[in-house]
Amino acid sequence: MDNTQIQKLIVDEFSEDVTLRPMSGFKMDFSANPGFRKIFFAASCVCETSALLSVEISDDKDDHEIIAAIPSLVERLERQERAFKMMDCETHSKMMKGFSRD
Ligand SMILES: [Zn+2]
Repeated sequence: MDNTQIQKLIVDEFSEDVTLRPMSGFKMDFSANPGFRKIFFAASCVCETSALLSVEISDDKDDHEIIAAIPSLVERLERQERAFKMMDCETHSKMMKGFSRD
């Protein structure tokens, strides 16, 4: 199962109010753990701040195990999105500056 298929399974399970967009991976991902692959989603706010959210899946999981893990991945992403939406836009703009400094 490739990352796009996993993203589709995750998107299918999102609540209706979730507005995360699937993102393709990045070649330069310094935070990646060996033995895990990362699935990326983007959250965005009306102030045009976007945040990159991700969940990790162990590389040695087979398709059946991945499907079994989908509900917990969905829950983790929904929790990350809620945290992003609960920040006010002043905090969002600080996050933007933090990102560009790196
Ligand atoms: Zn905002």
